[in-house]
Amino acid sequence: MDVIIELIAGSLKEVSEMTHKREKLKMRLEAERGRLLTELSQTNVVERDNLGYGNHMADDATEAFEQAKDLALRQNLERLLKQVEDALKRFETGTYGLCEQCGKEIDPARLKALPYATLCLSCQQHRESR
Ligand SMILES: [Zn+2]
Repeated sequence: MDVIIELIAGSLKEVSEMTHKREKLKMRLEAERGRLLTELSQTNVVERDNLGYGNHMADDATEAFEQAKDLALRQNLERLLKQVEDALKRFETGTYGLCEQCGKEIDPARLKALPYATLCLSCQQHRESR
């Protein structure tokens, strides 16, 4: 009898640890979303009014380069933000941690390293090899 109780208590503990880990991942994703939104708002306010009015070609080139760099950074941030928001949506629908491709659970270690992963490792590798 005691053994059974221990077993039940043990599996309950596992479930709660699992939930706890999920909560932690969710918190990390929410923190990441906040950070990305802040960064995006900062890249947005950079003034580029003087572009094209420089006296030196080199200055314009540098300016254009800086702008291209900002744009790339911004696109990168937006892509990340979308991944993070998608992951947060999956928490709501209860599909978080499940592979989009095969429906199996994604390895917790993988989620820890990449909280917004949508594919399990083998599906990811399969996709990359195509
Ligand atoms: Zn998969």
